[in-house]
Amino acid sequence: MDKKVEVLAPAGNLPSLRAAVDNGADAVYFGFRNATNARNFEGLNFSLSDAEAGIAYAHRHGVKANVVLNTFPQADDPGLWYRTVDQTAALGADAIIMANLALLDYCRTHHPHLPIHLSVQASASNAPAINFYQRHFAIQRVILPRVLTVAEIRSLKDRTDVDLEVFAFGGLCVMAEGRCYLSSFATGVSPNVEGVCSPARAVHFENSGERLKTRLGEILIAEYGPKEDAAYPTICKGRFEANGQVYHTMEEPGSLNILEMLPEVIESGVVSLKIEGRQRTKSYVATVTRVLRQAVDAYYESPGTFQAKGKWIRELNATSEGATHTLGTYEQGWQ
Ligand code: SF4
Repeated sequence: MDKKVEVLAPAGNLPSLRAAVDNGADAVYFGFRNATNARNFEGLNFSLSDAEAGIAYAHRHGVKANVVLNTFPQADDPGLWYRTVDQTAALGADAIIMANLALLDYCRTHHPHLPIHLSVQASASNAPAINFYQRHFAIQRVILPRVLTVAEIRSLKDRTDVDLEVFAFGGLCVMAEGRCYLSSFATGVSPNVEGVCSPARAVHFENSGERLKTRLGEILIAEYGPKEDAAYPTICKGRFEANGQVYHTMEEPGSLNILEMLPEVIESGVVSLKIEGRQRTKSYVATVTRVLRQAVDAYYESPGTFQAKGKWIRELNATSEGATHTLGTYEQGWQ
């Protein structure tokens, strides 16, 4: 059997990184406390000394540490992005996660020994695109957008030598990632510089009698009855009217959870299973990492008889958006 698939966990701060390592992650990923990563939230992310401590902790436990630099240089200070590439190389990170062509070129030229993982922000989801990045920038791995079926991933594997990383758990982004203007339309700002596509300052919750309305900017995203759990308003997961019906027209507000298809996903040839959620709590990181670790180990113990345990699903649902989960596009067809 091929090398065991990697469990890759998010870290929004040092305590989360330690929680990921302590709960069985094979690798962790984190970004710096500035605009160079797409989860640029107040109070989140790593200073230089945090990064040094985090990488040292991970390495002491035989865990890899990848640095995220997945936004695009802004015209007023592109130097920050280049300095971050240099910093990441100097820190001895195991990989740098990037999408911008100029940064890819800079990294390959100035730090040829630093492995590059092509960020999902590059939206590379077909073999010619992935092979282009490999040819020009020697990328070692691509993080696939959450828009492919397992059959498509399997066929991609046959047509590229680049390692494939896929999302296994967490929030879903249903568009060609890095190319979605839905939230920019609603909020007037780019997710690339705001850290997220539904920034808190654009989110509104309104009580209207017994009902609760959620809005992003001026746009009504959903209306909930008294017994319904309200999801954080993300425009692609809103309930809108289409053809006389009100429903989730683009995507349900549940979390992606591949446990029920874990054998198929592993056997498609991917090298890494990524947990989304650098903005989530330490407890989320600990729970999801532990459950995914147990599930992956159970699969390798007996690939032919693997079954997702009810206990795992319940534990993961308790951390999920809307307390529900979906297999996303790994299985689902579009409406
Ligand atoms: S609005 Fe939805 S599709 Fe667009 S970036 Fe956010 S999660 Fe992705």
